[in-house]
Amino acid sequence: MDFGLSDEQRMVVETVRDFVERELYLHEDEVERLDDVPKELAREIRRKVLDLGFYAANIPEAFGGGGLDHLTFTLLERELGRTAQALALHFGRPSNILCACNEEQRERYLLPSVRGERLDCLAMTEPGAGSDVRSMKTFARRDGGDYVINGTKHFISHADVADYAIVFIATGSEDTPKGPKQRISCFLIDHDTPGFTVRRGYNSVSHRGYHNCILDFDDCRVPAGQMLGEEGKGFELANTWLYATRLTVAAMCVGRARRVLDLSAEWCATRKQFGQTIGKFQGISFKLADMATEIDAADYLTLAAAWKLDQGADANRECAIAKLFASEMLARATDDAVQIFGGMGLMDEMPLARFWRDARVERIWDGTSEIQRHIISRDILRPLES
Ligand SMILES: Cc1cc2nc3c(=O)[nH]c(=O)nc-3n(C[C@H](O)[C@H](O)[C@H](O)COP(=O)(O)OP(=O)(O)OC[C@H]3O[C@@H](n4cnc5c(N)ncnc54)[C@H](O)[C@@H]3O)c2cc1C
Repeated sequence: MDFGLSDEQRMVVETVRDFVERELYLHEDEVERLDDVPKELAREIRRKVLDLGFYAANIPEAFGGGGLDHLTFTLLERELGRTAQALALHFGRPSNILCACNEEQRERYLLPSVRGERLDCLAMTEPGAGSDVRSMKTFARRDGGDYVINGTKHFISHADVADYAIVFIATGSEDTPKGPKQRISCFLIDHDTPGFTVRRGYNSVSHRGYHNCILDFDDCRVPAGQMLGEEGKGFELANTWLYATRLTVAAMCVGRARRVLDLSAEWCATRKQFGQTIGKFQGISFKLADMATEIDAADYLTLAAAWKLDQGADANRECAIAKLFASEMLARATDDAVQIFGGMGLMDEMPLARFWRDARVERIWDGTSEIQRHIISRDILRPLES
């Protein structure tokens, strides 16, 4: 077992941390206030990351990306987690499901995304189908050489700034031991396709400036060539490419929690009450100790899951464990941090309230904590069931 980082991994961590601290921290308050990332700033961040050579670091070198392995990419995400999600978006990590593009799709979607010319978003969730993905209602009906799509997706992150959407849509149904379930296919749909509209969704307390959107399909006609992968195999495609995104969530939670710990420690060492710094009160300093312990635990779980993925092994259970623990750890850490800061912890003048609000969504998106527990417990029990 080797817990050391390679020279390349150390370089990635140092470069990304430096970029985040120097180029992104200074815009956090503005993004929070505007609930938006100004277009010019978004462009500027993308340009700088391209110059740095870190854009699309998750995509294989064969497609022009950085080709980082899971472990190194997880380290990168950990550093990005220190800053606002809305700013980190423009660091540019196209969805790796785009690697399933055929040659023609590669030219129109994957390669421009790797070059920072086009931005994707990914749409699975619907008002009536959240955790139960296979109950989705959005349907694509075959009509000659086209598909005609009707339905609505909601909660779709940053669809308002994306150029196209990777959309999961039912194209039929099948009987399963759990009753009839939708057969799902995946489509690449450009934002200017007639019958497809994107509108701003709900106002979320988490991650200001990182908008969730509603996608409406009203007799939206797309050629069959817009399908990503095979007909009816969208669920398998998602399972192949997307379960590693849970590691991204875990890594970002670890990065954010480390920043929260740094800020809390600084406050403990400077804020005085009853004639001494509050860090001298054991009730306060022990919170720092618990935070540090849980952050390290989440960090090791996350890196171990990434390492296992790099061995080509099935790491479904490990990714779920990392996401579950890291997101719940962040909730405890941010809550303790607010307590350490006292009243100031709740004020918009401090970043703590933001971290506390932002932490809430991590237990919900990319599969809720309950769904992660399902995945883990199913993996434990399956071998024992006849
Ligand atoms: C800010 C934000 C951004 C998002 N971005 C995207 C995006 O870009 N693309 C996208 O496709 N989706 C996105 N989502 C959707 C997200 O993945 C879903 O919110 C999540 O999967 C949960 O679905 P739901 O909200 O409908 O909750 P539900 O599925 O309705 O769940 C409600 C509650 O019931 C529990 N529950 C449900 N089923 C079970 C079960 N079998 N056992 C035990 N408990 C269960 C859940 O854990 C939860 O506590 C986003 C969500 C948010 C909040």
